Amino acid sequence: KSGSTQNMAANIKVVVRVRPLNQRELDMNTRVVVDVVDEKMLVFDPKEEMRPFFYQGVQQPNKNFLKRANKELKFVFDNVCGQNATNNDVFETTTKDILSSLMEGYNCSVFVYGATGAGKTFTMIGNTENPGITYLTMEHLFYTINSYEKEREFDIGVSYIEVYNENVYDLLKPSSTPLQLREDSKYGVMVAGLTLNSIKTAQELLNMLENGNKNRTQHPTDANAESSRSHAVFQVYVKMRYKTSSQLRIVKLSMIDLAGSERASATGCVGDRFKEGANINRSLLSLGNCINKLADGSNYIPYRDSKLTRLLKDSLGGNCKTVMIANVSPASTSYEDTYNTLKYAARANKI
Ligand code: ADP
Ligand code: MG
Repeated sequence: KSGSTQNMAANIKVVVRVRPLNQRELDMNTRVVVDVVDEKMLVFDPKEEMRPFFYQGVQQPNKNFLKRANKELKFVFDNVCGQNATNNDVFETTTKDILSSLMEGYNCSVFVYGATGAGKTFTMIGNTENPGITYLTMEHLFYTINSYEKEREFDIGVSYIEVYNENVYDLLKPSSTPLQLREDSKYGVMVAGLTLNSIKTAQELLNMLENGNKNRTQHPTDANAESSRSHAVFQVYVKMRYKTSSQLRIVKLSMIDLAGSERASATGCVGDRFKEGANINRSLLSLGNCINKLADGSNYIPYRDSKLTRLLKDSLGGNCKTVMIANVSPASTSYEDTYNTLKYAARANKI
């Protein structure tokens, strides 16, 4: 491995979270296709124990010849969170560490990736009883900056935007007019005309995120009525002024709830919806491409290929810390989605 590859390895962390079976999956008595072995390893499509088959009270020889062979694929990641993991457990293994990099002056980014229904928004935002990693990270950020208050003055501003159909919209100040990206010498990549809300406590954040989420573009499709086709990007700008030198430094933490990774083709979309799908794939594909190129130590990173990667240009690569959380359902009914998500995550992890 080259030096730059090794640096990148230290700078990207890939965590897989397997959500519990939901009621519908339990009711259907769905087979579980993800076996969490330990905190770093899982087996996808594990071998099934031979279930004894009885006919009129007499055990029959197993007739398994019609059954497709199990893949039994082992995957190793930086961390695997099983179905009993809480949002707090996920926080402890993902974003808690990156705040020290942020304090050192490096931009950081956190992604939740996965098919619709796999648990991305639960992980990122959660609910009042189970606040997600955005809230927990912000709480920890306020705790962290307190410990630096002797040396630095802080100013925290947050924004919440969505990238939908390759357009950028402000979720905190809804408008049908898309916003433009521009590059600023102090702030890096900026969204022109964006609201930056100043906040002093993590508590203030919950309402803001909930309201923002209500403004997210949701378009029911045939495949899934709750399907979310937009990328939600929460960004925290930390302005720090060093008291001795009065030097000013601005760092950025981005937390991105990606659009569902299921293929547009699987949802039977045509016309406008089809265009959306193509664009979402473009941003997701482009993100994957950028991460892979960074991993290979390429000189050319195709940030300009999509809105999402343009927006995150200054938060990926270099000394930026990146955390990718891949969410999957353990149910056999999500077999293809889970397999694709694990492959995507493994590619990012291979680095
Ligand atoms: P996504 O954002 O990926 O489409 P959601 O986060 O909305 O998926 O999750 C789908 C459903 O599953 C929601 O009702 C959510 O509350 C539930 N869910 C997801 N992950 C968990 C979890 N780890 N524990 C309990 N419920 C979960
Ligand atoms: Mg969601």
